[in-house]
Amino acid sequence: MEGNEPEAEVCIKCKTEFHGDNGYYKCDLCFGSVHKDCVNLTSSEVRCMPLQKRVLLLICDECKQLIARMPYQI
Ligand SMILES: [Zn+2]
Ligand SMILES: [Zn+2]
Repeated sequence: MEGNEPEAEVCIKCKTEFHGDNGYYKCDLCFGSVHKDCVNLTSSEVRCMPLQKRVLLLICDECKQLIARMPYQI
């Protein structure tokens, strides 16, 4: 539990507000929220997302672009 989250969170991809549903993921790098429909996950990736110890990182397009411009450090 983390307390006060801003209420009007917008999708980092389409910049549309969320409407209280759970139809979104969080980017593992910037922790921005993005609609499930706005990330192109494969069906096996979708099944991995609820796992506590998943290896898969969800990385939004903006972070992917950042990574592409940086020396790879992870
Ligand atoms: Zn979206
Ligand atoms: Zn991100």
